[in-house]
Amino acid sequence: MGEVAGMTVEHSGVDVVVVGGGIAGASAAAYLSANGLSVVMLEKQDTYEDIVRGEWIAPWGLREAQTLGVEDAFGLGGAWEIREWTQWDETVHPDEAETVDMTRFVPGVGGPMSFPHHEVCALMAEQAEDSGAVVVMGAQRAHVTAGSKPEVRYRHGGQDHLVKPRLVIGATGRGCTVGRQVGVHMATSVHHWGGGVRVTGLDDWPMDVQAMGTEDDKMFMVFPQGDGNARLYINFPTANSRRYQGPEGEKRFIADFELRSLPDGGKSVYAAARPIGPLKVWPSVAMFPEQPVVMDGVVLVGDEAGNADTVLGTGLSCSLRDTREVCEVLVGGDDWSPAAFEPYLAERAFRMGRLHFGADIIARLHCEFGPEAAERRRRARELMAENFAASVTGLLNMVPPEDVPDFGFSEFFAERLFRERA
Ligand SMILES: Cc1cc2nc3c(=O)[nH]c(=O)nc-3n(C[C@H](O)[C@H](O)[C@H](O)COP(=O)(O)OP(=O)(O)OC[C@H]3O[C@@H](n4cnc5c(N)ncnc54)[C@H](O)[C@@H]3O)c2cc1C
Repeated sequence: MGEVAGMTVEHSGVDVVVVGGGIAGASAAAYLSANGLSVVMLEKQDTYEDIVRGEWIAPWGLREAQTLGVEDAFGLGGAWEIREWTQWDETVHPDEAETVDMTRFVPGVGGPMSFPHHEVCALMAEQAEDSGAVVVMGAQRAHVTAGSKPEVRYRHGGQDHLVKPRLVIGATGRGCTVGRQVGVHMATSVHHWGGGVRVTGLDDWPMDVQAMGTEDDKMFMVFPQGDGNARLYINFPTANSRRYQGPEGEKRFIADFELRSLPDGGKSVYAAARPIGPLKVWPSVAMFPEQPVVMDGVVLVGDEAGNADTVLGTGLSCSLRDTREVCEVLVGGDDWSPAAFEPYLAERAFRMGRLHFGADIIARLHCEFGPEAAERRRRARELMAENFAASVTGLLNMVPPEDVPDFGFSEFFAERLFRERA
């Protein structure tokens, strides 16, 4: 393909252009090309770098990956099964922190996986290429025009390119580049900020146990990746958004794992961790599309279509579900009109409603700080010990939202969980 029209290289015979080669875009390119469609995937990075994205995938997301046939990219990319989840807290002595077996929730999958995100993306892109997709790394200035005959322009190798596919999949993540170009606007809300860094050296940390907990003004997470590697995250108040700025930021971030609520005061983390990637700090934003994410010639997936607060840890699973639903329409028949994607829109609206509700509960419970918030967590923990049903929101990490009992999404449930008791 490729003929030069003036200075623009024009490509013909393309079924789908995928803009953005993250988990959503690369899995779409891999699945569609494996199913016989002609696919071009545009990724703006020259090579995949650690841009600090999700590295913990829920069992229900792994099941989506299996359906899409991209699960090997996780395995080969170093995915590491996490078997236990210990919830620490400043209101609980480390010896009394509760541990949950995470391997029993989704039959045939096992526990969640923790993995180096950029390496898995690179492998998925390679898989797409092996299946016949054209993968353009370093694609710049991608511009999409929606319509019954959509167009994608981009710059690569010093030249302008034009593709006229049947359909464009927008998968540029939370930057929403394609969405903005085709008139989809996002309402946003930010509950707290977060930061993350990949580290090595955690030789004394049990590698099949993930940690989450709240202490002082930090909600911390340790997601082991095997061989002493782990992804560390900290969520903290928005008012304190500059706390890790400056040259010593990384050091201060790791030092913040000196925590009374961890065994050994967190020494196996703060005294051992050495960064093997950049520290990135971000507003933990929830995004709500104000227009439908499907229109003539363009469908948005993954974070580009709206996402729940990252504290929930379901963005990857959601992205893979989006990809699967959209791709099943594309390989399932010739009707690629907006009407054909109505089930996708309906399922997504239902799913995101539940995820936003759950993320709100988790954020209020674990990412609010100070004595009142600690007291609220203590009360909720007590309620959960008395009645397992009070923990229902935690299921969202394990099973798909439709499998979580309905009562977990009522205002009555939230009010009961947070109310003060005599
Ligand atoms: C710090 C952090 C921690 C998170 N933790 C978790 C977690 O533990 N578990 C979980 O499930 N989710 C987590 N998430 C959410 C998860 O990372 C996202 O939901 C997921 O990465 C979305 O995938 P995506 O492919 O839609 O977008 P992205 O991962 O953002 O990928 C978008 C891709 O598009 C490319 N791109 C962007 N603009 C253009 C353009 N104009 N042209 C071409 N290419 C472009 C980017 O380079 C990138 O490769 C986290 C997110 C963040 C930010």
